[in-house]
Amino acid sequence: MKALDISGLTKTYKGGVQALKGVDLTVDKGDFFALLGPNGAGKSTTIGIISSLVNQTDGKVSIFGYDLHTQKEQAKACIGLVPQEFNFNQFETVMQIVLNQAGYYGVPRSIAKERAQKYLAQLDLWEKRDARARELSGGMKRRLMIARALMHEPRLLILDEPTAGVDIEIRRSMWGFLEEINRQGITIILTTHYLEEAEMLCRNIAIINKGTIVENTSMKALLSKL
Ligand code: ADP
Ligand code: ADP
Repeated sequence: MKALDISGLTKTYKGGVQALKGVDLTVDKGDFFALLGPNGAGKSTTIGIISSLVNQTDGKVSIFGYDLHTQKEQAKACIGLVPQEFNFNQFETVMQIVLNQAGYYGVPRSIAKERAQKYLAQLDLWEKRDARARELSGGMKRRLMIARALMHEPRLLILDEPTAGVDIEIRRSMWGFLEEINRQGITIILTTHYLEEAEMLCRNIAIINKGTIVENTSMKALLSKL
């Protein structure tokens, strides 16, 4: 069983843009996987579909064996999404944001509090737990998005351009944290348009261009070809 198994995935947006033209992709359990491609290639659309935010036009997606169409709740429970743009209530505190997310997934309050402490500490946000989101720096907001996505302990963490616009210091610390949770067994997929980021972190990679996967290989094999 794969962490992610996508076949024949297509997406045509209203207005006729064919964002995906038959994407086939598999990601192994425990992998650290990059979906690389230029702007407009279809990365956000692909992860939007996996995360149930975008409806596919055609094709099959299964997540840890759960069919996204017929077993949507189970599939969704496996996934933690870190979107590109900050989408939390800027007036809530860090603690409220992570606890509310846990509540949304039905995590019991006492467990949610333990997890909040664990993940906020790991992401260097514990000291900021009572700060409102709007008071945080850009790097802190990014880390808050990751902590929030982990509150229901997903088996698959998906990050959309996680380090876009983040300076190198913060980028390094985020990379370190992602490697650590991957070592703990969480499968990670990130999208990026920086090959260096994929190279630094990922074992396997798919390259998407104009809605089609043009390469799907190990990072090692790709680098030996360049
Ligand atoms: P990427 O994440 O690789 O930059 P996207 O998945 O965002 O690519 O976009 C793929 C294509 O779909 C682009 O041509 C984009 O303009 C188009 N697109 C994305 N979202 C929408 C939308 N909501 N409505 C119409 N077209 C869209
Ligand atoms: P409840 O009885 O409603 O579960 P809690 O004590 O869990 O009350 O939380 C009350 C409020 O304080 C909530 O908005 C929660 O987000 C926030 N909160 C809970 N624990 C902490 C904490 N350690 N630091 C800051 N805010 C917290």
